Amino acid sequence: MKYPKLRELKEAIKALIMGPYTSSFPFKPHVPPKQFRGRPKYDDKECIGCLACENVCPAGAIDHEEIKRGDKQIRHITTHHDQCIFCGHCQVNCTTEKGIMLSNEFDLATFDRKDSFHDVEKELALCECCGEVVACQDHLVWISKRLGSLSFSNPTIYLAHLKQLGVVDENIQAAAEAMSRGDRMKILCVECRRKASLEK
Ligand code: SF4
Ligand code: SF4
Repeated sequence: MKYPKLRELKEAIKALIMGPYTSSFPFKPHVPPKQFRGRPKYDDKECIGCLACENVCPAGAIDHEEIKRGDKQIRHITTHHDQCIFCGHCQVNCTTEKGIMLSNEFDLATFDRKDSFHDVEKELALCECCGEVVACQDHLVWISKRLGSLSFSNPTIYLAHLKQLGVVDENIQAAAEAMSRGDRMKILCVECRRKASLEK
């Protein structure tokens, strides 16, 4: 039994010289390594509210609700850090690749689990005929930018983009309404677009 004792002595001397292996957390903030996967957080500018992250989350840690605020309809997406397993699927599968990122935040301690979340809100674009949700406004604009000039083949997409640029006003919409089959020149859900395109 000579060898283990020598090994322990070596470890003891090493610990005396190098100090303890453990950090002094919580007395001193712990600095995690660069690759550490901490609490996921939304980037309001990059997120388009598409819900891909919610669909791929294996832990069911992401949910959403659609709420009315004034004359606007809002999609509220929440990541619950107390359910998150920090797998990174949401980040890897994010449509814009930057809408949600795992941060380097190590400390999850809280007195109330209800405080353990991060959320983002996105305005919804509604069908101008039936009022159904089409998609988030930012999502339509993102598609329009990706498609470039090709987006002119889909009035819902390019009108959403023009609306964000502030160049669609009542006059343009009124002129469009006076045209035959003018309903096609509106932001429409799939069902209303089918009706406007196929029915008289
Ligand atoms: S890191 Fe994984 S578990 Fe956590 S929110 Fe993202 S997908 Fe869900
Ligand atoms: S853009 Fe990314 S973070 Fe935002 S809802 Fe879509 S997948 Fe989630």
